[in-house]
Amino acid sequence: MQKVEHFKPDVIIIGSGLAGLTTAMEVTNAGKKVLLVDQETEENLGGQAYWSFGGLFLINSPQQRRMGIKDSYELAWQDWMGTAGFDREEDYWPRQWAEAYLKFATKEKSAYIAKLGIKLMFMVGWAERGDGSASGHGNSVPRFHVSWGTGTGVVKPFVDKVYVAQEKGLLQFRFRHRVTKLLTQDGAVIGIAGDVLEDDNKARGVATNRDVLADFAYYADQVVIASGGIGANHQLVRENWPERLGKAPAQMISGVPAYVDGKMIGIAEEVGAHMINRDRMWHYTEGIENWNPIWPNHGIRILPGPSSLWFDARGNRLPAPYLPGFDTLGTLKHLQETGFSYSWFILTQKIIKKEFALSGSEQNPDITNKDYSLFLKRIFGKNAPGPVEAFKEKGSDFIVSDNLKDLVARMNRLTGEDLLDYEAIKSQIEARDREVDNKFSKDTQVNYIRNTRNYRGDKLGRVAALHKILASENGPLIAVRLHVLTRKTLGGLKTNLHSQVLTKDEEVIKGLYAVGEVAGFGGGGMHGYRALEGTFLGGCIFSGMKAGQHIASLPKSPSA
Ligand SMILES: Cc1cc2nc3c(=O)[nH]c(=O)nc-3n(C[C@H](O)[C@H](O)[C@H](O)COP(=O)(O)OP(=O)(O)OC[C@H]3O[C@@H](n4cnc5c(N)ncnc54)[C@H](O)[C@@H]3O)c2cc1C
Repeated sequence: MQKVEHFKPDVIIIGSGLAGLTTAMEVTNAGKKVLLVDQETEENLGGQAYWSFGGLFLINSPQQRRMGIKDSYELAWQDWMGTAGFDREEDYWPRQWAEAYLKFATKEKSAYIAKLGIKLMFMVGWAERGDGSASGHGNSVPRFHVSWGTGTGVVKPFVDKVYVAQEKGLLQFRFRHRVTKLLTQDGAVIGIAGDVLEDDNKARGVATNRDVLADFAYYADQVVIASGGIGANHQLVRENWPERLGKAPAQMISGVPAYVDGKMIGIAEEVGAHMINRDRMWHYTEGIENWNPIWPNHGIRILPGPSSLWFDARGNRLPAPYLPGFDTLGTLKHLQETGFSYSWFILTQKIIKKEFALSGSEQNPDITNKDYSLFLKRIFGKNAPGPVEAFKEKGSDFIVSDNLKDLVARMNRLTGEDLLDYEAIKSQIEARDREVDNKFSKDTQVNYIRNTRNYRGDKLGRVAALHKILASENGPLIAVRLHVLTRKTLGGLKTNLHSQVLTKDEEVIKGLYAVGEVAGFGGGGMHGYRALEGTFLGGCIFSGMKAGQHIASLPKSPSA
């Protein structure tokens, strides 16, 4: 067994993603010592957040006010409750977390991230526009604030802080240390044990080896689990797949790196931690296979504007509110009922240029590298951003053609299923195009496009002017095959408002905390059944902050 000889940590944190980093920052700010353990290499510091788009949910922010958006805690509460749909006894803590998180997002979050130097873009995005009812699912107003620097811009200040703590002797890393067991004494967690893995020099995000070199055990008064969700473990996703969303898709692609393996959940359960809401998850229906994959089965999510026409595998246009970017899980359920794990967008060059954003720091070099001139090209240039054009050219799910007949024939060839009827698709698009000339219109999607362009941000950078899909001057036509892409875990380890892990009987497990995605971002599922988007990074920060501040407030152990 390997031992820590000269460094006696007050706290062990398992996982160096955003939640673990936030906890480490808070604890070391208070002068306490942290051992930060991760199964991955130092190259992967920051976890998923590094890869993220960097979208942050804020309420009544300066950016919203500048864009003329009137938001309030009350409106956000209405939206969150309509979205979460809390309806279980075990939603007690998730609901408490939702309330606390909304207060944080209204009052403190802007200042907290600004103090760290995180800058937000001036244009606020309108994600998850909802199910078409005022009190139901969705954001009534734009709230998605993208960090200038995407996910890398969110992670960097936290990484910088923990390196400073390391220099001061307050923090040590243990990379390539995979935790397999929580050590207990008299019901309290007192340490961790596991495997030291062989080093690996692969680039960030690429799956690393799992070759075991030795075992280890470390001890501390507090242990914080910050190990992320289950998104890369499709077996676990399938096992927990909720019946209400239909059958689990036969084929799924991965929106997260391989280390998001969900294994710490079972390890925590062995010491009595209560995992709740495991059937609540957040997967996307607009996934595309990455032509240049980094992690296994790597998929990218399109963050779509509202104009693409959406068809199921048999070529039936999806009914409202299942429009691009409106109701993620409603659309997933609808598509699962068709019996196919893929669907189609049909759109024009004008739409792809303005409305396709790809989620991921590496897919947005202009924002990630804080390159103003490249960013201005995204808004005012002739083509879609470089990574989108690259997908159009090289992506296996993209078909480009000047005429619809050829497009549909090639769509059929791509799947080999011959399910699409050219005449049927043509008549649906022609009917929709006819509505463009009708200033009244009963086509919900056409009306939504008109409505969204009332918002300055959408008009400028996100929603193409309403146009006819089949008019050649708007072309070429583009078809995109869409897959189900796994991403976030909404359920998690049940925690109180200090992020302390609770048993089934509501007892605190002494010495054990859980933060970030493994805690369902707080409480075991503060999002309930659905999410408003941009709430995950903030959930890591908030739950990590809560754990860190609570640990900082505890008397220091005499032995540490
Ligand atoms: C492409 C992409 C785009 C996204 N965009 C957004 C966005 O715009 N807005 C938003 O709010 N959210 C977004 N998200 C989601 C968000 O990034 C994640 O939910 C969040 O970063 C999770 O952070 P975490 O710290 O909880 O876990 P992770 O980042 O998953 O970190 C967990 C760490 O724990 C380690 N670990 C796991 N098990 C063990 C073990 N047994 N022993 C040792 N170490 C272990 C892992 O190796 C990993 O380093 C996105 C995610 C992705 C992948």
